[in-house]
Amino acid sequence: MSTTLDRFSHQLSAVFGLVFGSSLNRAHAQNKLARHIVALNGKTSPAEIITEVADCLKGILGYRLFAFVNKKNAGVDVWLDPRMYKRSIEDIIIRDFQIKDAKDLTYLNTHKDRGACLEKFNLDSLVHYDHKEENCYSRLYMMPRRPISAFHDDVVRIVLQGCSAALSRQIKIEQLKDAATIDPLTGCYNRRAFEAQLIGHAAAADRHKKPLSVVMFDLDHFKSLNDTYGHLGGDEVLKQVSGLVRRNIRTEDIFARYGGEEFIAILSETDKIHAIELADRLRQKISALRIPFNNRTIRVTASFGVAQLGGDADIVKLVEDADSMLYKAKFNGRNTVMPGLIKVHRDENAQSSILAKVH
Ligand code: GH3
Ligand code: MG
Ligand code: MG
Repeated sequence: MSTTLDRFSHQLSAVFGLVFGSSLNRAHAQNKLARHIVALNGKTSPAEIITEVADCLKGILGYRLFAFVNKKNAGVDVWLDPRMYKRSIEDIIIRDFQIKDAKDLTYLNTHKDRGACLEKFNLDSLVHYDHKEENCYSRLYMMPRRPISAFHDDVVRIVLQGCSAALSRQIKIEQLKDAATIDPLTGCYNRRAFEAQLIGHAAAADRHKKPLSVVMFDLDHFKSLNDTYGHLGGDEVLKQVSGLVRRNIRTEDIFARYGGEEFIAILSETDKIHAIELADRLRQKISALRIPFNNRTIRVTASFGVAQLGGDADIVKLVEDADSMLYKAKFNGRNTVMPGLIKVHRDENAQSSILAKVH
């Protein structure tokens, strides 16, 4: 750590020699900046990195960081001074980055949208600095209290450079993590990630005595679909079906591509009856899907198998049960869910009018 600090101190001394008058002040500020830059590298999230930058600019130059925008290959992250109205600078960011819709911005920190304690700022005095790394483009918006001297300008650039390098490294780490857990075609978890998630979810369900179910499905006659529309047509179907399922399950449910055209979802706090109901809704939605491809329309169906975690919390058996139910669904003519639900109306005095029977 001290070696890194020494190295930074050495690099920055040229700038600081000019910025700060007395050697005592200079050494103090120089150490502060070096410490902030080293701290940037230890941060584990973009929000933490940018908060460190805000502290650094305030602590060393007395400048206030208003917003920080980081444009990546996919998406635009925004950090905003928590004391300002989102709307006041959002328009500027949207214009500067040629963004179609405010919904395309991801806010990294919380800020107040309304409330008396928010301050009003004169955005005309906003200045910005840009920095480009190989995988991101960063812009820092500040509102200095006085005209920026050439020396302060140098310091801001050093801070921005350190920040962008830390963010860029963070993006690379995230990409590596994604590559290990996410299926690139569908954006779902891959089988390995699914298995890791199932261990954790099943243990939690067992500990809290809550139900947990899995829903497994396989697209029907996918081989002949590939033969008819080509492999790209098949890929498009996998993307559309997985997207449809993701939009129709809870965000906390884990959805994974288990194999070629086979998918599986972990439904926490869900018993078998509710899992079967969900599976049947998904089945109907998939069969109603119309997928445009090369001026044609592809249709597809899926067969589902559902199972609930038993009292022994055996996850191997859980997946085997779902798989054997899926096999039964194929055997029963496809485009169906197994086990199936039979809804029986009880007599009028019964508390519930519907009894769901699983067979
Ligand atoms: P069933 O109704 O019994 O499930 O029949 P099926 O034709 O769907 O099953 P089968 O296992 O015979 O064929 C699965 C096909 O899925 C074969 C394989 O080429 C195709 N497949 C697997 N992964 C992919 C992929 O990533 N993209 C495309 N386009 N096809 C894939
Ligand atoms: Mg199939
Ligand atoms: Mg299959």
